[in-house]
Amino acid sequence: MTQIERSKREHCPQCDSIQMYNYVHVVPGRDAEVFIECLECGAFVARYTLRAYTSEDPYRSYLRLMRQRHMSSGAATRKAVEQFRTELWNDYRRVKEMVQAAEESRSVEDLLEEIE
Ligand SMILES: [Zn+2]
Repeated sequence: MTQIERSKREHCPQCDSIQMYNYVHVVPGRDAEVFIECLECGAFVARYTLRAYTSEDPYRSYLRLMRQRHMSSGAATRKAVEQFRTELWNDYRRVKEMVQAAEESRSVEDLLEEIE
């Protein structure tokens, strides 16, 4: 079966709003979690468990990732960081373009079941 990448904005299951609060929850020794709440009606929307987090400062995020993986930050770091940053912005732009062009209408649960 051919897998096709899909993108969508999270929608509130109660009121269909796309306005969300993100509550970031960090506990030592555990994956960080983000609880998503509808800004319009206050409904619980979803919990994301993060394998990796990339902020608006991809250089810092990349160095943290390397520390987590116990990799040394040697001479190749600058080039690798630049590639990391380029891929981040390219992915971000592509996902936004996909949503604007043909936003996925099925639920995130449906999309995740499809790729299992
Ligand atoms: Zn809502």
